[in-house]
Amino acid sequence: MPANQKSAQREVRTRFAPSPTGDLHVGNIRTALFDWAYARHTGGKLIFRIEDTDRERVTDEYIQRAIETLQWLGLNWDEGPEVGGPYGPYLQSQRLDIYNEWAQKFLQNGDAYNCYCSTEELEARREKQRELNQAPGYDGKCRSLSADEISRYQTEGRKPVIRMRMPDGETHFTDLIRGEVTFDHKFVPDFVLMRADGSPLYTLAVAVDDVLMKVTHVLRGEDLLSSTPRQIRVYQAMGVAAEDFPFFAHLPFVMGQDNAKLSKRNGEVSIAWYREQGFLPEAICNYLALLGWSPGDDRENITMEELVQLFTVERVNSSPARFDMKKLEAINGDKIRALTIDDFLTRALPFLLKDGVIQGSDAEIAVVKSALPIIQERIARMNEVTAMLKFLFVEKVTFDAESSSKIGEEPSQHVIKRALEVLQPLGEWKHNLIEAELRKALLDEMGLKPRVAFGPVRIAVTGSHISPPLFESMELLGKERSIARLTAAIR
Ligand code: GLU
Repeated sequence: MPANQKSAQREVRTRFAPSPTGDLHVGNIRTALFDWAYARHTGGKLIFRIEDTDRERVTDEYIQRAIETLQWLGLNWDEGPEVGGPYGPYLQSQRLDIYNEWAQKFLQNGDAYNCYCSTEELEARREKQRELNQAPGYDGKCRSLSADEISRYQTEGRKPVIRMRMPDGETHFTDLIRGEVTFDHKFVPDFVLMRADGSPLYTLAVAVDDVLMKVTHVLRGEDLLSSTPRQIRVYQAMGVAAEDFPFFAHLPFVMGQDNAKLSKRNGEVSIAWYREQGFLPEAICNYLALLGWSPGDDRENITMEELVQLFTVERVNSSPARFDMKKLEAINGDKIRALTIDDFLTRALPFLLKDGVIQGSDAEIAVVKSALPIIQERIARMNEVTAMLKFLFVEKVTFDAESSSKIGEEPSQHVIKRALEVLQPLGEWKHNLIEAELRKALLDEMGLKPRVAFGPVRIAVTGSHISPPLFESMELLGKERSIARLTAAIR
């Protein structure tokens, strides 16, 4: 059964088809990004389809969050929720009649059959297969029931599932990343299309939709590779010619640092977490784009425009990619430094508001704006703005136990007193003048090391040993408040 020998002329139509049973995770987003990049590179279309037939696990809230996540990342789609399109609806839960119709057709033309086996019977037979070391899976018991057997089952009140008949033989297809793939049908037993309650299974819905939505390229995670022969079987039963099957490209797994598949257990997977931590969408896209794909050089920075220009499926690496948080953080820092101050401000404000650092008045925003240039070099995640800028907006600084004991001891007390003496007379409150005075008094005259000299001053003024550059911070805070804080630190 040769598959996907189709001409390359047709417009490319890719699809991203998550089942949002939680927040989209790193693997989902990399798939979405590659689907998007391929559609944009080829001038084709990206379809966004929600696979929500399992309504116990996929909720409206998760669907909404999936939509917002893609929007936030800038991965726009041409057909799907919010935008519609010619092959909708794009929520599978709104397409149940379509799947049912196809399942009935498959029953009528003999591609599928009603299967009356109960769960207990299936389990008992599977147990036997295990004992005999046979390939597990449905044994074909209901493939050719007589009219008598059927009516007996019906009288017993059994409700059948609809099962697809898998003919003997093999399925071959060319995976655009993995090359030639063959599945021996000995290991692909007849499979369920519709449950006894009339609800469709993933294999039916996904295949029917890919055909009806005229998908030409299925780029998706490697975990779905083994479902491909079943999907191809559905295409055939639908009467689709082999040259019209979509191309498949199965993206290798994203692994954690421990070389196990990235999951909650060995890393942070939820994109929502990255957003809360202050990773910028362009940094996430940049990092994920180069996770398992490269344009042929070893660059670490790429813009969305460059990705669109350069993306080809052929350059996706067929071996698993390793997720490296440090690298993502470094890229995030680069992207933060590349922001204009206005853009930086727009992105920083939500964090400061959420953390209650500011209430949002014009005066506060002006202070934030004036402070941003001095922290732009120093943060790798946007949520760090809170710790960095809080000192500007509090009435009085509070110290944790460690800082408190540190500035209470000598030589800290001596340092703070001396700093006060030289800063009080200072006429003009500029960071370079503040620095010159403190260097002269504390380093040159007292002979202290910078850390010993400036550490206590930093804690006294900002409340923390992590802060923006000290002298700039003091300038921003103003003379009166700086002096008051130093005075308050004297025991
Ligand atoms: N809905 C499937 C999932 O989230 C993916 C379907 C597909 O890409 O074929 O696992």
